[in-house]
Amino acid sequence: NKVLVTGGAGFIGSHVTDFLIDEGTHVVILDNLSSGDLKNINKSMHVTFIEGDVRDTKAVQDTFERHPEIGAVVHMAAQSKVGPSIENPHEDLAINVSGTLNLLEEARKKNVKTFVYASSAAVYGHVDNLPVTEETPTRPLSPYGVSKLSAEEYVKAYSRLYDMNVAALRFANVYGPRQSAATEAGVITIFIERLLAGEQPVIQGDGQQTRDFIYVEDVARAVMKVLEDPAKNKGAVFNVSSETSTSVEELLRKICGALNVPFTPDYTEERPGDIKHSYLSREKLSNALDWTPLTPLEDGLAKTADYYRSK
Ligand code: NAD
Repeated sequence: NKVLVTGGAGFIGSHVTDFLIDEGTHVVILDNLSSGDLKNINKSMHVTFIEGDVRDTKAVQDTFERHPEIGAVVHMAAQSKVGPSIENPHEDLAINVSGTLNLLEEARKKNVKTFVYASSAAVYGHVDNLPVTEETPTRPLSPYGVSKLSAEEYVKAYSRLYDMNVAALRFANVYGPRQSAATEAGVITIFIERLLAGEQPVIQGDGQQTRDFIYVEDVARAVMKVLEDPAKNKGAVFNVSSETSTSVEELLRKICGALNVPFTPDYTEERPGDIKHSYLSREKLSNALDWTPLTPLEDGLAKTADYYRSK
């Protein structure tokens, strides 16, 4: 059986592809390279890359038709940033919601039962109680959060309607090698790239906003766990997080430590739609699938710094 990884040329999707290849699975990637990069893609002969857009029903159909062995979908392709979703909410909606629906429809028609959806902590918005559990009410703050949540509801509805083995994984802040620094990427990548270029890093807001950072390989392992026995947790929603809370200021201190440079940040205005505090419980996923993150922040930062240094 092959696995279709949409967005497989992107940051998280490319790591999921590496894990699938390592366990001997053939991967079909559908990606329009809007934020992804061919360089991220595993060079194994067991990867088939298709350049195409998830909004294009024909491209999605062709992908399944050319690869009838596809037995599972890992849907990572998305407009994955808050800022662009505020500037262009229609495009965000089309990619994140219609794109997801196109994949669900084709999966249903081809009787592909397993569908793992990359959701986001952005679906929660501001919360009253921390850590955020999967039962916490969803009150997204941005069009991005709304589109991720809407697509998640389609995914769950398809599970109920068509007996599909779906799971929605709500990722915390993922970091690691291959994250693109273009337009408001992960704050860790931005800080590292600026520091390596000898520039002063800029903290948006007062730096006291907290986040829950998780290393990309730990996220990829969570996806692999779900794929091991997809029927086991049919329709489930899981947070994927380290369950640790780190302020942006503290984070920058650690990065400066990893790179051995002084901590001298600049501060600018807070971003609209930004969540002040976020910290996700990982108990549900850990209990259901025996998954724990293996990479402490310091180790992950060191690996990420090495990657950008050698780039
Ligand atoms: P990314 O931008 O690196 O990857 C997204 C990939 O999808 C890119 O390769 C891009 O070219 C592709 N893509 C975008 N629009 C497309 C389209 N219309 N058709 C086909 N391909 C398209 O982002 P990422 O960080 O790897 O995010 C992967 C998934 O995880 C996304 O669904 C995102 O919403 C979700 N997520 C990411 C984070 C994070 O911290 N990085 C957190 C929560 C959720």
